[in-house]
Amino acid sequence: MVLRKNANQIALMRRAGAVVAEMHDACTRAAVPGATTADLDRAAHEVLDRRHARSNFLGYHGFPAVACISPNEVIVHGIPGPRVLEEGDIVSIDCGAIIEGWHADAAITVPVGAVDSESQRLMDVTRAALESAIAATVAGNRLGDVGAAAESPVNRAGFGVVREYVGHGIGTEMHEEPDVPNFGPAGRGLKLRAGIVLAIEPMVTAGRPATRTLDDGWTVVTADGSRAAHFEHTVAITDNGPEVLTRL
Ligand code: MG
Ligand code: MG
Repeated sequence: MVLRKNANQIALMRRAGAVVAEMHDACTRAAVPGATTADLDRAAHEVLDRRHARSNFLGYHGFPAVACISPNEVIVHGIPGPRVLEEGDIVSIDCGAIIEGWHADAAITVPVGAVDSESQRLMDVTRAALESAIAATVAGNRLGDVGAAAESPVNRAGFGVVREYVGHGIGTEMHEEPDVPNFGPAGRGLKLRAGIVLAIEPMVTAGRPATRTLDDGWTVVTADGSRAAHFEHTVAITDNGPEVLTRL
């Protein structure tokens, strides 16, 4: 069942979203050559503590950190640890926060120092896919319209859309119905209405979109070793269009 949220509930998710945006800022500043992925997680954790917010990642099916930190060929669910970020890497930061029981969830991919033009293009196209999907997240549209909007700039760029992992509804749980695929067909699927809140999160690969999960049971990498980018926002559908809750 797809639960619709009222204005008070969305206001709490907006507060959680502001914490997530602040966590991203802190992680971005920490993503310098020589930093470990654990350093980024620590930066995110400090923000949660300062804002008296809870983590929806820590302990989720046993996940050991407050952020997924996913460099280069890691698409999603990277476990923070000793891996050292190097100049020219890209790194995805996916984290969330809970305020008074209401969740927000967002992801960004950032450069570590100066990156090559193809990595920059990969990040730019993935961000464009998210923005395109958000613009389609309006009452009266269908879920397939959101997916088709996400997929279109990726296909034009010749990159790959990951199909095994998708966005989701969000509210008092991080993952609620419905699934939000990053591909079409347009005109199909659930009809969107005001009060529905979605975490929209295109994952895009520079090479083929096939994925593989490492033996740790979490880390999802590109099967061909190509780089991947991931951008996500928590978005509320209002009578006045989409409102991004995870942006300051
Ligand atoms: Mg996320
Ligand atoms: Mg998510």
